[in-house]
Amino acid sequence: MKKLIDDLYKYNNLEDDKLLELLKVMDKEDIAYLKSKALDTRKLYYGDKVYLRGLIEFTNYCSKNCIYCGIQSGNKYAKRYRLTLEQILKCCEIGYSLGYRTFVLQGGEDKYYTDEKIVEIIYEIKNKYPDCAITLSIGEKSYDSYKRYFEAGADRYLLRHETADKDLFESIHPRASFENRMNCLKNLKEIGYQVGAGFMIGLPNQTYEHYVKDLRFLKEFDPHMIGVGPFIPHKDTLLKDEKAGSLELTTILLAIIRLLLPKVLLPATTALGTIDPMGREEALKAGANVVMPNLSPIDVREKYSLYDGKICTGDEAAECRMCIENRIKKTGFTLDSSRGDHVMYNKELALGGLYESNTKS
Ligand code: SAM
Repeated sequence: MKKLIDDLYKYNNLEDDKLLELLKVMDKEDIAYLKSKALDTRKLYYGDKVYLRGLIEFTNYCSKNCIYCGIQSGNKYAKRYRLTLEQILKCCEIGYSLGYRTFVLQGGEDKYYTDEKIVEIIYEIKNKYPDCAITLSIGEKSYDSYKRYFEAGADRYLLRHETADKDLFESIHPRASFENRMNCLKNLKEIGYQVGAGFMIGLPNQTYEHYVKDLRFLKEFDPHMIGVGPFIPHKDTLLKDEKAGSLELTTILLAIIRLLLPKVLLPATTALGTIDPMGREEALKAGANVVMPNLSPIDVREKYSLYDGKICTGDEAAECRMCIENRIKKTGFTLDSSRGDHVMYNKELALGGLYESNTKS
């Protein structure tokens, strides 16, 4: 195993059958070695810095019916809410004063927020906080919509591919198209966003072979960010009695991802902090370099219930900020409050590319 890990460290790649072998055969000692190599690799590009993102969950209305998700349209028990532009700007104001320089706007696929409304939100935030990055995470849209948001000032887009296996994807996303999800990711990259893909770990019927497909897809697609977290059941969904993904497998996959894509921005997710009180710390020790504390107003946090037991629903933004900084320091890292772009990204160049492709078409 040590030889495979050394190869992965040295070449930032490994054949599929060897990745599968790693996942199936590693013992405790191998896992510790893998994580130490992942840590060395993150230090090469990001030192001991951990980037901060302020998450604003601005709507839990959703037209999709992802069977694992608590805010799926079919959940009649979900208490729905939407934030106004003023409420979103208030979250940014609080976040900015606490040192946040990236705002992540996340929500269900909610048609109430037309392209015009999303563009207005982006303009207003950029106008007030030009030194901040905006990340969108609002699902599958057309090429033109993505382009409008980008030109309005959005910098990054998170759209987890969820699983790179078409059959598994279609079994958990009724009436959704795997090809469309993948095409959206391709479009986002072409437009020039810093793009985030990613997947859940521990879904029912998910196998090591599925994870190898995810790893291969990520290596080939080469996103700027990768969101990986455990699946956690939600009481109002079909999967309510299933087991959650494990901390061990999630941190192993994080470490392998760090070695496959050494420069990637890799969050220690809230879902991991939910299945284990030290989950985010363990993720940082396995190569993660981003944290995403919640900036949503406290009275809506419980309502953005993707899975059961979500942490930090009762804490003020300032408390979350303090808590996360302490956790990062105690784990031996430093919180970095800059925008925290991918080391290889240049928006001017990306915009240049976009205008060039516009003049060609
Ligand atoms: N609608 C947008 C989209 O589809 O990308 C963003 C919102 S969606 C709720 C954000 C992410 O939550 C999904 O990509 C999914 O991986 C994650 N998620 C949803 N339900 C979950 C669950 N039960 N356990 C863990 N993660 C979950």
